[in-house]
Amino acid sequence: MKLTNEYLLNVLKAVEKRNPNEPEFIQAVTEVFVTLQPVIEKRPDVVEAGVIERLVEPERQIIFRVPWVDDSGAVKVNRGFRVQFNSAIGPYKGGIRLHPSVNLSIIKFLGFEQTFKNSLTTLPMGGGKGGSDFDPKGKSDAEIMRFCQSFMTELSRHIGADCDVPAGDIGVGAREVGYFFGQYKRLRNEFTGVLTGKGLTYGGSLARKQATGFGLCYYTNEMLKANGKSFKDQTVVVSGSGNVAIYACEKATELGAKVVAMSDSNGYVYDKDGIDLDAIKQIKEVERKRISEYLKYRPNAEYHEGSKNIWTVKCDIALPCATQNELDGVGAKALADNGCYCVSEGANMPSTPEAIEVYFAKGMLYGPAKAANAGGVATSGLEMTQNSMRLSWTFEEVDEKLKGIMVSIFKACDEYSKAYGMPGNYMAGANIAGFMKVAESMKAQGAV
Ligand code: NDP
Repeated sequence: MKLTNEYLLNVLKAVEKRNPNEPEFIQAVTEVFVTLQPVIEKRPDVVEAGVIERLVEPERQIIFRVPWVDDSGAVKVNRGFRVQFNSAIGPYKGGIRLHPSVNLSIIKFLGFEQTFKNSLTTLPMGGGKGGSDFDPKGKSDAEIMRFCQSFMTELSRHIGADCDVPAGDIGVGAREVGYFFGQYKRLRNEFTGVLTGKGLTYGGSLARKQATGFGLCYYTNEMLKANGKSFKDQTVVVSGSGNVAIYACEKATELGAKVVAMSDSNGYVYDKDGIDLDAIKQIKEVERKRISEYLKYRPNAEYHEGSKNIWTVKCDIALPCATQNELDGVGAKALADNGCYCVSEGANMPSTPEAIEVYFAKGMLYGPAKAANAGGVATSGLEMTQNSMRLSWTFEEVDEKLKGIMVSIFKACDEYSKAYGMPGNYMAGANIAGFMKVAESMKAQGAV
C-alpha cells in the first residue's frame, strides 16, 4: 500500500520537516498514515478537529542529564528521556528502555505506537515511553542501582499514579523497576502504583512477567484459528532471548509447537530437538550471559555468529521478539522461501517496511506489534487496577483476563480490516481500531 492521500502526505511532510534525523519516528508515522487513508476519506470531522496534526506531536518531551558514579569512583553521564505522547484516553503509560542505541527518535516511535496499542487493550491508558542510552551490560548491581536512582531523581518530577506510569522494556526488568520504585517512594514519600512490572512482594501483578510473550501467543493463536491453522506441531523461530522471547517460547511450546531457534545481539542458536527453555532461563535470567553458552547445556545444538541470519532457519511461524527493524526484506524473503506462512511480532516494529511488503506479497499471515504484543501493557493495566483496589488476583485470574483481552484485540483487528475493505490486513485493522477510540476522545475534549 502506498500513501496517496493528499492531506496525509502534507501532514507527513510537515512531520519530516519538524523532526529531522528521526527515521524510526517517521517510519512509524508513515505506516500508520498508509492504513488510515480510508478513515480520513470517510471522516472529514476528524480532519477538521486537527486530530492527525495533534496525534503526531507529543504532548510533552523531557530530556535530562543522568549523572552517576561507577564502581571506580568515576562520574559518568547519560541522557534520559520521557516522551508523554498522548493522554486522551488515560494517564501516559509505556516502558523505559535502557540500551546504548536509545535516542529521541526511538523513544518517539515507541511512544507514538504505544498510544494505539494502549487503546486496543480496551483499558484506559494513554501513550508514553522513556529510556536512556545507558548500557546495563557488564555493569555491577551497585552501578545499576546508582544509575536507576539518578534517573528517577529527575523522572519523579514528571510521573505519578494518575499522570504517567512507566514500566519495563529492553534492559529494564524487575531489578531495575525495583530500584526506580524505591527511589520514587523515598523522594515523594508515597507508596502508589506509579510503576508497573513491580516485584510480587510490593504491589506487582502475577503473570506480568509472562504477559507479553504469553499474550503474543494468544493473539497469534486467534489469528491462526481464524485462518484454519494452529500452533500444534508447527516449527517456530523466536528471535531474542529476553523477557518477551522467553515467555513466547514457553507458551508456543505449551500450545504444541516446537521452537528451534533463539538469539541475542551476537548470534543465534539452532536446536533441531527443540529449545531447552530451562537452559535459556538459566543463561539469561540468572547468569545474564551470552546465548552461545547454550552449547554447554545442549552440545548437539548449533551456534551461529550474527543474529540476522536467524531468519534463514526453516520454520512455519516466526516470532520476532528482539528489537526494531531486526527483520528486513532479505530476512522476510528467506522466511517465505523456506515455507514460513506466519510472522507475528513480539518486539516493537521489528519488521522493516520492505519486510512487510514481502508478507503481503506472499500472502503470509502478519500479526502487527501494536496488537500482537499488547499483552504486556494490558497486564500492566491490570496491575494498576489491583494497586488501586489494594488487592491482588491469582495467576490464573490475570492470565484469564489477559487471554480475553488478546482475543478481543484480534477480533477488533479482524472486524476493522473487513469494515474498511482490507480483510486479512490485521496491520490496517489494528491501526484503525486503535486510532478510532483515541480520535473520538481527542475530538470530544476539544483542541487541547
Ligand atoms: P529484554 O532486554 O529482556 O531482551 C531483549 C532481547 O533482544 C535480548 O535477547 C537482546 O540481546 C535482544 N536484542 C536487543 N537489541 C538487539 C539487536 N540490535 N539485535 C539483536 N538482538 C537484540 O527486552 P524485552 O524482551 O522486554 O523487549 C524485547 C522487545 O519487545 C522490544 O522491542 C520491546 O520494546 C518489546 N516489548 C516489550 C514488552 C515488555 O513487556 N517487556 C512489551 C511490549 C513490547 P542482548 O542481550 O544481546 O542485547
